[in-house]
Amino acid sequence: MTHPEHLTIHEAHDLLKSKQISSVELTRSMLKRIESVDPKVKAFMTVTGDLALQQAAQADKKIAEGECGPLTGVPGVMKDVLCTKGVRTTCSSKMLEHFIPPYNATVIEKLYANGMVLLGKANMDEFAMGSSTENSAYFTTHNPWDLTRIPGGSSGGSAAAVAAGEGCFALGSDTGGSIRQPAGFCSITGLKPTYGRVSRYGLIAFASSLDQIGPMTKDVTDAAIVMNAISGRDERDSTSVDCPVPDFTRSLNKDIKGMRLGIPKEYFVEGMQPEVAAAMETAIAKLEELGASVERGVSLPSTPYALAVYYIIAPSEASANLARYDGVKYGFSFQGTDSMWEAMEKTRQFGFGPEVKRRIMLGTYALSAGYYDAYYLKAQKVRTLIRMEFDKAFEKYDALITPTSPTVPFKAGEKGDDPLAMYLSDVCTLPINIAGVPAISIPAGFASGLPIGMQIIAKPFAEETIFRIAHAYEQATGWQKMNPKV
Ligand code: GLN
Repeated sequence: MTHPEHLTIHEAHDLLKSKQISSVELTRSMLKRIESVDPKVKAFMTVTGDLALQQAAQADKKIAEGECGPLTGVPGVMKDVLCTKGVRTTCSSKMLEHFIPPYNATVIEKLYANGMVLLGKANMDEFAMGSSTENSAYFTTHNPWDLTRIPGGSSGGSAAAVAAGEGCFALGSDTGGSIRQPAGFCSITGLKPTYGRVSRYGLIAFASSLDQIGPMTKDVTDAAIVMNAISGRDERDSTSVDCPVPDFTRSLNKDIKGMRLGIPKEYFVEGMQPEVAAAMETAIAKLEELGASVERGVSLPSTPYALAVYYIIAPSEASANLARYDGVKYGFSFQGTDSMWEAMEKTRQFGFGPEVKRRIMLGTYALSAGYYDAYYLKAQKVRTLIRMEFDKAFEKYDALITPTSPTVPFKAGEKGDDPLAMYLSDVCTLPINIAGVPAISIPAGFASGLPIGMQIIAKPFAEETIFRIAHAYEQATGWQKMNPKV
């Protein structure tokens, strides 16, 4: 048997269902694993040991009664941006240090209904702003493949936890790459679903027109299982779409013969590490060998503007979303000032970290009367162009293949004081959120022991196409079976 800590969801399910292991046993061994490796990895903001064991006991009861769904009794980890009733939810910010939500996010509710066991809440960049978890107000998470390096971000805690065997799976959120980039950096699978596929109710908002919640898992099958549980229209999120939710696991185990794949040249950016380019060449050759017809030199000409568009739109929306942290309603509140204004100012001065303040200032500037047309409106127009180019590409191709990031995971501290260098690590993932289309990152090899991710992009609501290609590639290569030695 695989070490319990490295079990996938479907492997754990098989053992639970056949009663070779109980959920309590599995949960205990996960908690032990967390105790032994998390002091090094630092993936968790909060470990919910007692709650997990209670939920596991309940799951075992259900299983004894013959009720064992794919997630019943399976322990998972939730990014600390997702509201969990009665469990501290910090967004890795001082602003929410003591915030205990009175309700569950829809995705949490759905996972609980499916019998998931909550192991804890994962560290992240504060308010999901960042690419390395170094913007967490508490501590940086380390990459399990090399503890001197970052795990990516902003869902770095979720990715590291899954890679290090501190949970069977995790959920992350992705506004510009925060699921896919850390998935790539930690050699796990991470899907950003189509905008509107998954309810954002209870996801603490960063940039509402870009944010999506998605699975971070040990393989593609698991991602399909989690998507089955969390997808669908929710009347509490008006942007969630009433589109039929297929059984995503049905798209697995199909071959990819004759599928048309495009390789967009703009994603092979200047500054890309040669090892990443080489791994991509090998991966593309593998896809061809599996029967796909691959066309290189596809062009999505507006791609180079995506970074600028993102850094206008995301901060603009963030500046509006984060206005609620005023020290009055909930969260941190600076005490002992003479006036209300001063209290509000000090609350925001001490409650937010530097990156969050930078984004609020950028967004407030871009939305101000004199600059709105020049920046925000212009960015929205380019956003439409970017989306149109994807639509056009998908008339010809079933999917587009790109690297997830231009580099392997970098050293902690390397880009800490250079926000622009940090922003560049998401060049391949940002355009996907701007267009609202779905994309996955799956393991595609290593360079000197450091993970490389491949991104597969499809048209809106074509997650099934993504799963089909990703699963075929994964089965042919076996990269998903590699585990780091922590
Ligand atoms: N790294 C990007 C940012 O800092 C994307 C973050 C995200 O997807 N939440 O905004």
